[in-house]
Amino acid sequence: MLVLGIESSCDETGVALYHTERGLLAHALHSQVAMHAEYGGVVPELASRDHIRRVLPLTRQVLKEAGCTLQDIEGIAYTEGPGLAGALLVGASIAAALAFALKVPTVGVHHLEGHLLAPLLEDNPPAFPFVALLVSGGHSQLMEVTGIGQYTTLGDTLDDAAGEAFDKTAKLLGLGYPGGPALSKLALRGTPGRFKLPRPMLNSGDLNFSFSGLKTAVLTLANQHRNDAQELDEQTRADICLAFQDAIVEVLSKKAVAALRQTGLSRLVVAGGVGANKQLREGLSHAAAKKRFEVFYPKLEFCTDNGAMIAFAGAMRLRREGRRTMNFPIKPRWDLAQLDAPD
Ligand code: ATP
Ligand code: MG
Ligand code: FE
Repeated sequence: MLVLGIESSCDETGVALYHTERGLLAHALHSQVAMHAEYGGVVPELASRDHIRRVLPLTRQVLKEAGCTLQDIEGIAYTEGPGLAGALLVGASIAAALAFALKVPTVGVHHLEGHLLAPLLEDNPPAFPFVALLVSGGHSQLMEVTGIGQYTTLGDTLDDAAGEAFDKTAKLLGLGYPGGPALSKLALRGTPGRFKLPRPMLNSGDLNFSFSGLKTAVLTLANQHRNDAQELDEQTRADICLAFQDAIVEVLSKKAVAALRQTGLSRLVVAGGVGANKQLREGLSHAAAKKRFEVFYPKLEFCTDNGAMIAFAGAMRLRREGRRTMNFPIKPRWDLAQLDAPD
């Protein structure tokens, strides 16, 4: 079955073609980062309008790359939620219109299920069951995954998500938006051990996270080192970046290991944008070698938002859940643990 996947939950338009026997045939992405950068964050109305401009050209592009035509599409998956309502509506309505014209079924995909299943697109996919560390711009969760749609929340963030903490910290250090990649790049030049920031909730005895205090600790530290012109010198900024990243990576790694211990599982999947962080990957690989568990990641480009993960998750559900109606529900807020298995 050839499935077209459309992702439009936030500020990236992603489109992909996934074939249930032949695998991923093509994918394309347009990031709106440059457009939103001057506002310091995503402007929802601008995001929706840009998705409208991008979805069909990207669809033509992936069809061409895969050597397929519109008529070859047998099902359409779109991101149903969670996300920005207007942005979700663009993907949902285009999916519904295309499906009506092509007489094929549609399925709405949970964006986080997309992130969580993205490592299954790799050549050496993890077998079920596994623990998933889902760390993105809007979520930080540890989930026990026993099969597709069978998700139990083990831990969640009480305030900011990990990606959000990266972005907000980067912003207060003047690194622009979105700050995660910029912050981790600057951290490479940081002096190890110059600053030590708190490890929030490390010893809380549960699998929850809290990152907003860390951001405040960075603000206090930065204010202590500003010069008369209220600026930070480049080395101090790099040193703060490194201290911040050390703290967040240690908390994420130790809680992920605790989740494996609690569930008795030996496979860890890391998904979501923060999963692209090199230091987090190194920390987890180190822990995996020491504590004898396996760790699986998506390709770097499939850590952040993309159409391939939506096409894949949709393909897993279309056969049983495909709809042939003109309605196109969206769910701007949607708990991952509420999903059911496809069978
Ligand atoms: P959600 O998936 O929760 O709805 P989102 O779709 O905005 O949120 P993603 O696209 O999964 O989130 O990831 C984007 C986030 O990942 C941003 O917060 C960004 O700063 C962060 N990020 C991306 N690359 C890195 C990196 N190398 N290091 C740290 N953070 C990163
Ligand atoms: Mg994004
Ligand atoms: Fe995402």
